[in-house]
Amino acid sequence: MLSCKELVASSSDFLDGQLRLRQRIAVRLHLASCSNCRRFIRQMRVTQAVLRKLPDEPIPELDSLAKRLAEIQQGR
Ligand SMILES: [Zn+2]
Repeated sequence: MLSCKELVASSSDFLDGQLRLRQRIAVRLHLASCSNCRRFIRQMRVTQAVLRKLPDEPIPELDSLAKRLAEIQQGR
């Protein structure tokens, strides 16, 4: 079973469709049983969508979100 930290570590690859089938299944299994990570992935999706739409504009809210994501990833 994937840990939450492992899920966070592979979340961007997951969202980009870069994971191998086995990893993707592990992520999906984890998401099925972990509401925290479901929320995290949803937030990542929103962030990516916003970043794609507004590539050049600095957005204070995104800065703080990015900071939080960095903190989460440092907790590996
Ligand atoms: Zn989790």
